[in-house]
Amino acid sequence: MIWSPLLQPIKNRYLAYFARKVVHATFPEKYFIQYMKKQQNPFGKATYTLTFDFDFEKDIDAFPYLLDMLKEHEIKAGFAVIGKFVEKYPSIHKRAVAEGHEIINHTYTHPDNPHWAPERFFNKLSYAEQKEEAEKAHNIFRKVLGIDCIGFRTPHYGNLHTESVYPILAELGYKYSSSTAACGYKGYGAPTVHSHGIVEIPTGCSAHFPMAIFDSWNMLRKKNPFLGNDELFIKEFDETMQIVAEEDLFLTHYFDPYDIINNSKLESILKILNKYNVNTVLYKDFF
Ligand SMILES: [Zn+2]
Repeated sequence: MIWSPLLQPIKNRYLAYFARKVVHATFPEKYFIQYMKKQQNPFGKATYTLTFDFDFEKDIDAFPYLLDMLKEHEIKAGFAVIGKFVEKYPSIHKRAVAEGHEIINHTYTHPDNPHWAPERFFNKLSYAEQKEEAEKAHNIFRKVLGIDCIGFRTPHYGNLHTESVYPILAELGYKYSSSTAACGYKGYGAPTVHSHGIVEIPTGCSAHFPMAIFDSWNMLRKKNPFLGNDELFIKEFDETMQIVAEEDLFLTHYFDPYDIINNSKLESILKILNKYNVNTVLYKDFF
């Protein structure tokens, strides 16, 4: 058994950092299984939600190929997109909607995008500014794509996420936010209800790095990445999904489109999901 305080959310960031070092260096897979098995999986069987964040023009460039691949493997996904890009590139976003994928509100400008909104941190914006970012994107999705969005993702996640966005989301009629990291968080990676009735769906980790977010930046791109190469990245995804399938867990990840299409990573991920016969759902299927 793992010392149970380690399986609780750790608020202090230094303690969390230390716990992550210890867990990752000693018994990560055991921790992952014990932690995730505590979750109340709303579907009761192995379920996965695949999502993508569109932050840069190069993500838009990857969009057609991404849609082709998802169609070929018959998997639906969630796309956290920004209002600014929907205005600029309406047709590719319309195609995503027409093919049954879910649009997630990722704000209008994606503060603090280094190209057009640097140093504009979402959690430092006023209530009115946060509201404007969410509402403007929402109205563009409605006008251009003909949809009433029900979900939100804070730009840069956990770091810039703030609970002050929940009343704004409730006012817009939203059901969920997917803006936090699964591990060390209540719900053990499964969705949980927060203030104003908003359900938070944290994005997930992987079997050997249960206290990190499993995304391409953490695993491959940052200085001293957890994995560092594409082959290990796919191996980690495969081993994680095998556990998800065996233990009937719920897991969700997000990936950067421009990065995930390189070196056939996306294709490998889709094949793995089909190989383990994991049920894939959209966030909106929770409601
Ligand atoms: Zn983003």
